[in-house]
Amino acid sequence: MKRTLFLFGSIILSCLTAFCQQLNNVIKSPDGKICVTVTDDNGKPQYAVKYGDKVFIQPSLLGVVTNHADYSENLRLKNVNTTTIDENYSLPNIKQSNVHYVANEAVCKFYRDSANVLDVIFRVSNRDVAFRYLIHPAGTHLSCTITKELTQFKPATGSTTFLCPQAKPMGGFAGTSPSYETSYTLDDAMGKNGWGEGYTFPCLFKNQTNGWMLVSETGVDGGYCAGRLLGESDGTYCIGFPQAGECNGNGTVSPGISLPGKTPWRTITLGNTLANIVETTVPFDVVERKYEPSKKYTYGKGSWSWIIGMDASCNYNDQKKYIDFSAAMGYQSVLVDALWDTQIGRDKIAELAAYGAKKGVSLYLWYNSNGYWNDAFQSPRGIMNDPILRKKEMKWMQQTGIKGIKVDFFGGDKQMMMQVYEGILSDANDYGLEVIFHGCTIPRGWERMYPNYVASEAVLASENLHFSQDFCNREAVNACLHPFIRNTIGSMDFGGSALNKYYNADNKHGNHRVTSDVYALATAVLFQSAVQHFALAPNNLQDAPSWAIDFMKNVPSTWDEVKYIDGYPGKYIILARRHGDKWYIAGVNAEATTLKKTIDLSMLAGAKKLMIYTDDASLNGSVKVINGKRKLSISIPQNGGIVINTAE
Ligand code: CA
Repeated sequence: MKRTLFLFGSIILSCLTAFCQQLNNVIKSPDGKICVTVTDDNGKPQYAVKYGDKVFIQPSLLGVVTNHADYSENLRLKNVNTTTIDENYSLPNIKQSNVHYVANEAVCKFYRDSANVLDVIFRVSNRDVAFRYLIHPAGTHLSCTITKELTQFKPATGSTTFLCPQAKPMGGFAGTSPSYETSYTLDDAMGKNGWGEGYTFPCLFKNQTNGWMLVSETGVDGGYCAGRLLGESDGTYCIGFPQAGECNGNGTVSPGISLPGKTPWRTITLGNTLANIVETTVPFDVVERKYEPSKKYTYGKGSWSWIIGMDASCNYNDQKKYIDFSAAMGYQSVLVDALWDTQIGRDKIAELAAYGAKKGVSLYLWYNSNGYWNDAFQSPRGIMNDPILRKKEMKWMQQTGIKGIKVDFFGGDKQMMMQVYEGILSDANDYGLEVIFHGCTIPRGWERMYPNYVASEAVLASENLHFSQDFCNREAVNACLHPFIRNTIGSMDFGGSALNKYYNADNKHGNHRVTSDVYALATAVLFQSAVQHFALAPNNLQDAPSWAIDFMKNVPSTWDEVKYIDGYPGKYIILARRHGDKWYIAGVNAEATTLKKTIDLSMLAGAKKLMIYTDDASLNGSVKVINGKRKLSISIPQNGGIVINTAE
């Protein structure tokens, strides 16, 4: 008996020794600062994240439940295979044109008895933690639906939140919600759940030991649903699937995959400052291109009449004026918004396209995605949801020289809706068309996955400035959020940079813009989308300052690099973007007190002359040229802006 115990004891000891030697359950970033620990305590897969010695994610559950098996308990972490990823890729349409992605990848293999049933694949770079599940076949099952994802994010105790509630389905304008168009709460306590339905990605958290963390997801395509973040009263957040009522209640909320199969990536971007969050490329780093471009897609700037002139302006004469205006600005496009099919007609659209082509201006056309998931009357309806009709329509567009489409009013985040997004993108590529989504979900790595994808709205965008004076009054607060949250994970079609004083074609009535002209210039740099349709109007050629028009003519819409300089979400933001060898530093201030800062201009080293656009205390803007320098004291009044760029 003693001998048996001794033997048994030495087997356990040798197993433990082997476990300690072989199982490296700590995954570090290449610079060693981010540390992810993966465990199987009590048979439950878990992870925790630190940055240096700061806790960012407390031990949080992992796992999935499928219709065949529960992979959230009775699992054992048996081995972790680590490799290094070192990749260069080009990303011409967002943030940084060439990316060098270096990360440590760890495949954490979880077993039940002798079967490897679930892997959790982690990738840890110097800024980000990304992870996804690989579900192995269960017995003879080569497919499953996922009924629950247990994935938790437990931020450090006392963290505060900057979150945007998920709207309930089939509400809002003509049953078009959720469309990621709700207001943020700022520096709020944890332990809440939005309006009862959680939060839209991305979700920003402030760590009380001076750190920031952004939680989101990427790589979502027609093979899964998009997720949201559900909050629990103890400060735990977990992945939520779509709401049952989305798409008029049609379609399951449980994603289905074939086995072996992978889920999308969950991402955590973290650091001591907001720099890692502003500069992250993780939504693109971990995804792959899904198809080759059918042609070389080009980006640029354009105008759209709807933001100032609304539905009535979608007529032949006004669109012709906007083509002339885009041509005068050196812009490449005009976005023709809703109702063009009845108010202009396809023959006249073809005429406008031919007229624009002579001036180097192409058209984007608006469509309702409707199907059976919204009651919006705006037409064209019933085309983009139908693969047969949309291919016929896209062929007509290709023959007519249309540059792209803006498809509006999507039905939610269910897998069947993600297939609609993907179907539109894929078909549009077959006909050489670029795609902009509105009334929609956020993009999740789509700039890299789909080469003809341009941008999504998924934000309370410029239309709200036309609709609400209160929104105008809070314009700068929102602008100080997007570079840290919504716009850092992907293209944001905001449709802003208005130089009208009023949101009305006569520029005398309607809601009043409280922000300065320099602010409008700054947001053209702060907000990014490879195709920008600005809220400028033809009258701005006469009534806006010539320096502002000149700037808007020349500002790039694609960027090679982004550098965070300073800011606080909802208060102020200063960042720099590089296009070629030219840097643009842009900032805006939402705070009642004038922002005074000394900023480092070392990225402009070597520039002999700088252009500086500033506001005085009454928000009167001006531009001057100064000699290049290393440091500069700036001041930005409330609702004002600053732009500094290298002079030509
Ligand atoms: Ca909208």
